[in-house]
Amino acid sequence: MIGSVQLIFFLAMGTFVIAGAALFSEWRRFRDPAALWWTAAFFASAVASSLFPLRQYDDLDIVSIGLANAMFLLSYGAICAGIWNYHGRRANVVMFVGPSLVWLLFWWLCPLASDFDSRVAVISVLTSVISIVSAFGALSGDARPRRLGRALALLMTIRAGFSAIRAAWASAMFGPISDAQRELGFEIVIIEGLWASVIAGYLLLALLRAKRERSLVKLAETDYLTGADNRRAFQLKAEAAWRSATDRRETTLLMLDLDNFKQINDANGHAFGDEVLKDFAALVSAHIHPGDTFARLGGEEFALLLPDCDEATAARLAEAIRAEFARAMLARKAEKVGATVSIGIASTRHAASLDRLLAVADEALYRAKANGRNRVECGPRREATATSGYGSRAALDFST
Ligand code: GH3
Ligand code: MG
Ligand code: MG
Repeated sequence: MIGSVQLIFFLAMGTFVIAGAALFSEWRRFRDPAALWWTAAFFASAVASSLFPLRQYDDLDIVSIGLANAMFLLSYGAICAGIWNYHGRRANVVMFVGPSLVWLLFWWLCPLASDFDSRVAVISVLTSVISIVSAFGALSGDARPRRLGRALALLMTIRAGFSAIRAAWASAMFGPISDAQRELGFEIVIIEGLWASVIAGYLLLALLRAKRERSLVKLAETDYLTGADNRRAFQLKAEAAWRSATDRRETTLLMLDLDNFKQINDANGHAFGDEVLKDFAALVSAHIHPGDTFARLGGEEFALLLPDCDEATAARLAEAIRAEFARAMLARKAEKVGATVSIGIASTRHAASLDRLLAVADEALYRAKANGRNRVECGPRREATATSGYGSRAALDFST
């Protein structure tokens, strides 16, 4: 048997090194700290696998049993810490070194450590605990696609369950254990460990790639200057919002266009214009909720899509944005031309298609411009003017 165990550990070592190298190359390219944790985990397992076969030499127990098991537990701790880190939480050092420290203390201080079954019981309990914590971490984060997080959690739960059964078995709960059973148990553990590690390596790589893909998509859908969504993202989100809008779920669209922006650029310089665009985007972003879509369609034109929002609420929001922006820009009075915004609003109640919704909002915006700028206009009808209240044009007039 010992010959074949050596062979299996040799194969395992190679597998761990390959998985560790793949994760390391992922880390080198994208510097996700989780990839580094997982690289460390697989290399620790590779070291452990190379130490285990030394158990045939009795005077090397400290290395082949003490250190090898500590390295395996360190590896599970690093997997766990990486999972928590992947979700943007602080990786806990107790998670990382806790199980292997407990094991080393047991190995050095407890007389029971000379008994094979007791060692198996302790290692199995520690493996079970760290696997449960890993499963919990994989499920509680916002990893997408969700099925990857769930698959990892399932793998860790199976490992936790398997280790718990093994701990019970080693404590003779199911009756006395023969040497043949011990050997069989050891072989089963090696096979489980190897299979679980291969699947874990695959899932961890897939998780890292999914995260990277998400960040690339986000980059491709974000306007560089303002951080708002870009036109492409807006189109996709608007189509999705249109599909989910029903009679009961009214969606409104705001078209926002900065007034006389060409003049602002001419008078203050392009860099100043850029600052105004950024300020405006920050101001609008502070007003919106998760689920709303705020996008820069191009130049100084923005769109704001508000799912589950009726026209009256949208008009109040638009008015607040208009007045607040005018006031904020008034603070820059030292500049030669103040900036204001005109806003047109359309609701799904008055549009039979997404194109029509965009057209109605555009019409309303055009009316806001035609009626003097720095104002809000609602819907397709001329009389549905929403400008009112605390930010009257006269008080905010920049035309000096
Ligand atoms: P209106 O009130 O009718 O909307 O007039 P406007 O001057 O705002 O509109 P127009 O379409 O004539 O001009 C838009 C200007 O926006 C022209 C362009 O130089 C400027 N612009 C477009 N993109 C940027 C940008 O990224 N940065 C800056 N600073 N200016 C930009
Ligand atoms: Mg403009
Ligand atoms: Mg424009």
